[in-house]
Amino acid sequence: MERELRERIVFWGRSLFARNYTAGSSGNISVRCGDGFLSTPTNSCLGFLEADKLSKLDADWKHVSGDQPTKELPLHRAFYEGRPKIQAVVHLHSTFATALSCLADADPNDAIPPITPYMVMRVGKVPILPYTMPGSADVAPLVRAKAPEHAAVLLGNHGPVVTGLSLDSAVFTAEELEETAKLVILTRALPVRPLDAEQIAALNAKFSLK
Ligand SMILES: [Zn+2]
Repeated sequence: MERELRERIVFWGRSLFARNYTAGSSGNISVRCGDGFLSTPTNSCLGFLEADKLSKLDADWKHVSGDQPTKELPLHRAFYEGRPKIQAVVHLHSTFATALSCLADADPNDAIPPITPYMVMRVGKVPILPYTMPGSADVAPLVRAKAPEHAAVLLGNHGPVVTGLSLDSAVFTAEELEETAKLVILTRALPVRPLDAEQIAALNAKFSLK
């Protein structure tokens, strides 16, 4: 089981990096593993992870083996604490979602208008958290406050954090978020017809994210 999870993190890291979802040593992934967690190491590139060097943490988030964990661990931990059922957290600096996190006129409670059913079904409402320095523990209370109601958030001027009931589903949601953010940016100067309240309610009734 742990071996499979390690290989899956390496697989998705390589895939996300190859498809330009995150660049350089940005982005990090964590998964629940037994009563602890696995995370990508600090300063590692998602494209070149090694299964045996992933950081292993115990139930109290103490580092037990592997390389030192990502410095952005506080935001991962806060999401697991605020949303106990999740199995994985994926944080990227993907271009279009990060662009949205920098917009002065974005709605901080709902950064991505419901322009496609897939956004409503797979991602839901995405708030933008106030800016905090990367790696700072200041992000933790902000994430914990939003985690019960939101599967994904944008860190202000930084990038998306997406959760899932499995690593695969967290990655798929991160991809959906990025693709929708791209549509939002592409159509920003155009008159867009969003889904109406009735259409959104029907989707929420059929595809609950809770
Ligand atoms: Zn980051």
